Amino acid sequence: MDISQKLQEIKQEIARITAMKPGNRVKILGVTKTVDVERIKEASQAGVEAFGENKVQEFLEKYEKLPNLEWHFIGHLQTNKINKILGKVSLIHSLDRYNLAEEINKRAYRLGIVVPVLLEVNMAKEESKFGLMPEEVVDFYLEARENFKNLEVSGLMTVAPYVDNPEEVRPVFRGMRELFLKLKALDPANEKLQYLSMGMSNDYKVAVEEGANIIRLGTLLFGERNY
Ligand SMILES: *Cc1c(COP(=O)(O)O)cnc(C)c1O
Repeated sequence: MDISQKLQEIKQEIARITAMKPGNRVKILGVTKTVDVERIKEASQAGVEAFGENKVQEFLEKYEKLPNLEWHFIGHLQTNKINKILGKVSLIHSLDRYNLAEEINKRAYRLGIVVPVLLEVNMAKEESKFGLMPEEVVDFYLEARENFKNLEVSGLMTVAPYVDNPEEVRPVFRGMRELFLKLKALDPANEKLQYLSMGMSNDYKVAVEEGANIIRLGTLLFGERNY
């Protein structure tokens, strides 16, 4: 099945789920790790609005060829690589530690830009995953708002545990939404605080049911990855 058909199916599924929640627009991020430039172009023409990469080098190679697409960074970011992506990505989904916030802010200040970021939360507290612990998020948000004027914290992101039955991770998504609403309640005037990035190929329906408004789809759009 081609990307365009796949995308239509996914959009229909999202429309069905959000029919009862007017105003809940869901952005589909095409995750393009291992996907070549031609396929990315095809996806863009089919209507995928934005693309995500999780490795700096791979991102740069694709960005060079497709600089006009909307790119997001979704992987663990080393501080010495921040400069390579600043100004090129519209959103960093993976702010996962304090010193990364400090370093992005410092470089953004020098460039005179404000960088939109999401706080990555390790909601299920998995050893193998990056991200803030859920109980750290509120303080982190408040400190970032106070100290990092060149960061714009635009919401939260999580990578849920991989499970065969996505119903098992519903509590993870629900916990994320609760955390997101808690931040919104703390800062009701902040309209920039707007994104809940959660849900991947195997669990995006449950994530959208629980309030995701950015979903990150690789395999479902582009097929299995060949590393
Ligand atoms: C690879 C990746 C995805 C997409 O995974 P699929 O299961 O192929 O949809 C989403 N988010 C992040 C952070 C990823 O690294």
